Amino acid sequence: MKQYWSKRVRDMVPYVPGEQPKDRKFIKLNTNENPYPPSPQALSAVRDAAGDALRLYPDPECTPLREAIARHNGLDVSQVFCGNGSDEILSFAFQAFFDKENPITFPDITYSFYEVYVKYLDLTASLVPLNADFSLPVERFVSGPTGGVVIANPNAPTGQAVSLVDIRRVLEGNPDQVVIVDEAYVDFGCESAVELIGEFPNLLVTQTASKSRSLAGLRVGWALGSPDLISAMCCVRDSINSYTVDRVAQAAAAAAIGDEAYFNKTCRAIMATRERAFDRLKGLGFLVEPSQANFLFVRHPEAAGKLIFQALRERGILVRRWDLPRIGDHLRISIGTDGEMDALCLALEEIVTGLTK
Ligand SMILES: *Cc1c(COP(=O)(O)O)cnc(C)c1O
Repeated sequence: MKQYWSKRVRDMVPYVPGEQPKDRKFIKLNTNENPYPPSPQALSAVRDAAGDALRLYPDPECTPLREAIARHNGLDVSQVFCGNGSDEILSFAFQAFFDKENPITFPDITYSFYEVYVKYLDLTASLVPLNADFSLPVERFVSGPTGGVVIANPNAPTGQAVSLVDIRRVLEGNPDQVVIVDEAYVDFGCESAVELIGEFPNLLVTQTASKSRSLAGLRVGWALGSPDLISAMCCVRDSINSYTVDRVAQAAAAAAIGDEAYFNKTCRAIMATRERAFDRLKGLGFLVEPSQANFLFVRHPEAAGKLIFQALRERGILVRRWDLPRIGDHLRISIGTDGEMDALCLALEEIVTGLTK
């Protein structure tokens, strides 16, 4: 086996995304998708884009989409780069800004794709353990030579956010390296670092339409930063595939970003549901981490995470769990609709009563 595989691929342990079940209908709280449909304006843009023009390649520069993103963030188009989901954006950024000789710094518990990119791209990393309460030891990201920094804010899968004051300290402490702030969940109540872009030419902020815009199926993400960083991203893209964002995706994402009212309404609904779920889970005896994201990171002091995970699955509810040090008993639960969270809490009540009796 693997007879024809390149050396690089033979040794890879790829990222494993959350399950997308095909066999039965689950309440799906495992991949941080948005429980609400995309903006009606985005769906209408999809229909309009699905026509004769699909004969033609898309705009490789994604200009109207970048204009919509620039407008929403108070930036210039030259400070915006678009890609096929922020996973692609992050992989381009790792290629554009990091070298093997200088290890990249990121936390031990964070988005697991970072480590996959490091291996695949033959880079090196220095993992900084989060504090016992899963907060970021900011000083460890400020001192000492580093080849670059990656911080998910809010962090995944813990949900905790770092303040802008601390992000600023990290930027000031790393003036000669790129600091990537992965803001996949920023719209659920976290301060964005976008306002620091004018001041820090080494800051790259990445965001996505997958979570707060309900468009995970469309695959659109973007990077925001100084024009020089954006040019490096273009250089990577145009060395691999100039047309990463298709016509339908460009049109729909631009429409979604233009629909501020719908965006604000759905984000507010998710945050309100999160606060209710937070209280109810605590009431059931769970330890619940503070969250600025569209998920909660929880653990029951008397029941193993693996058992709760399986018992939920048997009841038709999917959540996410990792067999990793420090977080093996934790579950990451995406925020669904109020009805879905009610079903989750009822199931957990049954399960916890059974497991701890
Ligand atoms: C979901 C997620 C992404 C990737 O989102 P895309 O769907 O590829 O845009 C990036 N970073 C973090 C921390 C995420 O949770």
